Amino acid sequence: MEIKRVNKQGYRKGLIVKKVKALALLSGGLDSTLAVKLILDQGIDVEAVNFVTPFCLCGKSGCGASEVAKKFNIPLKVISVGEDYLRVVRNPKYGYGKNMNPCIDCRIFMLKKAKKYAKEIGASFIFTGEVLDERPMSQHRKALSIIEEEAGLKGKILRPLSAKLLPETEAEKMGWVDREKLLDIRGRSRKRQIELAKQFGITEYPTPAGGCLLTYKEFASKLRDLFNHKNRVSLRDVQLLKFGRHFRFGRNKIIVGRNEAENRVLLQVKAANDYYFEAQGCGSPITLLQGPKTKEAVGKAAELTAFYSDQKTGEVLVKFGRNSLDKSMKVSVPSKEDVEKLRIK
Ligand code: SF4
Repeated sequence: MEIKRVNKQGYRKGLIVKKVKALALLSGGLDSTLAVKLILDQGIDVEAVNFVTPFCLCGKSGCGASEVAKKFNIPLKVISVGEDYLRVVRNPKYGYGKNMNPCIDCRIFMLKKAKKYAKEIGASFIFTGEVLDERPMSQHRKALSIIEEEAGLKGKILRPLSAKLLPETEAEKMGWVDREKLLDIRGRSRKRQIELAKQFGITEYPTPAGGCLLTYKEFASKLRDLFNHKNRVSLRDVQLLKFGRHFRFGRNKIIVGRNEAENRVLLQVKAANDYYFEAQGCGSPITLLQGPKTKEAVGKAAELTAFYSDQKTGEVLVKFGRNSLDKSMKVSVPSKEDVEKLRIK
């Protein structure tokens, strides 16, 4: 849309110029939602991009970002990242946070993609909902600066919630946005964001963080184990980490379903070479055995199947095979202690 707009940098009054467009990195959380609102309120066209990683927890395409985009009536592009993202998670230049979350590298990765997309849609600048010092790893001053430099966006990322505490960005220098109307929020308290949300009539937003499996200790152990034992990690390998109980026996990985739904998933995602196991004559999980099918590994997988079956003592008949349950063996139910020794934790 073409409108009349006066630009501080010298567009004359009455000159017909194209409305400035900006690209928002929209997670769907409160901070990025507020950032969108602040920029829209400056009369700027906003489009948004949302990244879905294999580690997103929300389970919806676009997380809460679709609702926010709908609410503000702005276009949203959802980008699902794949194996190139896994390579970043495996070898982050700037290391991990508390668990397996490579937040600095992750932001660089996303901003590089956002930069490309901004060019495609003709956005003059990119903005995010980042708040100075809100997150220990990726939102302190030095990290913010590293992120923009590595993404090839030095001085070009606007953080409307903390802009007044940060160096002027291109968007402010060019007069595309009015710095005076930007904010100076800093730190982990969300008090000001919650007040602003009230003021703007934003009532629904997810709780902060919690949306990324890489920040969870249990999941991080499973991912670390996967990286330690497999050279080429696929998205399927990562998907599998989300289901079942995971055990390590030398070069073997054993996964035991926790319920009917997981049993079905395990059978669906089972690779051609995996064995699957099921105890007979009682309620039983489905167990997958990955790696070399040695006698010992098959025995361990059968024992774990027996342990989680409804038969709690004595000998259990466990059937197993590659394409069908065409082999069987009798095993004793192992002790809890022995089971725990194999658990990945
Ligand atoms: S918490 Fe997860 S999604 Fe968020 S920046 Fe860190 S690694 Fe990326």
